[in-house]
Amino acid sequence: MSDKFAVIGLGRFGMSIAKTLADRGSEVIAIDQNMEKVEEIKDDVAYAVALDATDIKALTAQDIQEVDAVVVAIGEDFEALLLATAHMLDLKIKRVIARAANVQQRMILEKIGVTEILSPEESVGKTVAETLLEPSFRSYFDLPDDYEIVELKTPRRIVNQTLRDIGLRESYDLNLITIKRTFKEQKQSGDEEQAQHVIGVPRPDTVIQETDMLIMMGKTQDIKKFVECNQ
Ligand code: ATP
Repeated sequence: MSDKFAVIGLGRFGMSIAKTLADRGSEVIAIDQNMEKVEEIKDDVAYAVALDATDIKALTAQDIQEVDAVVVAIGEDFEALLLATAHMLDLKIKRVIARAANVQQRMILEKIGVTEILSPEESVGKTVAETLLEPSFRSYFDLPDDYEIVELKTPRRIVNQTLRDIGLRESYDLNLITIKRTFKEQKQSGDEEQAQHVIGVPRPDTVIQETDMLIMMGKTQDIKKFVECNQ
C-alpha cells in the first residue's frame, strides 16, 4: 500500500511537494484555505480541500490524523504555520515536517518538538551563492556531519584516468556515485546534438572524460581538497 501524505499550504513550495508525491504514486491530501489553490491542484492529487489549518476541528473532520506524514508549507503567516504544526503534533502524526523561513522560526519549531524542518529560501540561497563562488562545484544534497552530495566538473588532472588509478576512496575519502556524460546524438533531421546521460554505476576501470560531470559523496573539506589538488 502506498503512503498517505498531507500537504498544508499550497504556495509554490507546497504545490510542488504535493504534485511530486502524487506523481510518485502516493495518496495526497492537499489543503489550503484559498479555494483557488485547491481548484488548481484538485486534478493532480487524491483529495484537495479548502480549510483553515489553524482550526483543529476542520482538520480532524478530514481524518488528517490517518496520514503517515504531513508537510506544513505555509509561507508568510508564521503564526498559522506554528498553530497548524502544533495541531499535527497533538494529533500524534508519525512524521511532521514544517517549513521555516529563517533561523528564529527554525528555533521556535524545534522548541515545540519538530525534528524535520525545511528551509527552501535558505537552501536556494545557499545553492545560488555556491554557484557564484564555486562554479565548478554544486551541492545537490546536504547531509549531517558535514557530508554532502555534489556535482562537479572533472578536474583537469584526472582526465583519461580510471577510477582505480585515481583512488578516490583511498586518497580522498570520496565516493563517486555516478557520472553525467555528454554524448553526441543524431536528431531525426540529421543534425547532431549533445545530450547528457547518466552512465549508471561506475566501475574501477571506468575512464573519466574531460566533459564528465561527477556526482560525488563525501565531506565538504575532502571534496574541496580533491578539486584543488587536481586543477
Ligand atoms: P511559496 O514561497 O511556497 O510560494 P508563498 O510565499 O506563496 O509560498 P504563502 O502564500 O504565505 O506563501 O503560503 C502558502 C500557502 O499557504 C498559501 O496558498 C496560503 O493560502 C496558505 N495558507 C496560509 N495560511 C493558511 C491556513 N491557516 N490554512 C491553510 N492554508 C493557509
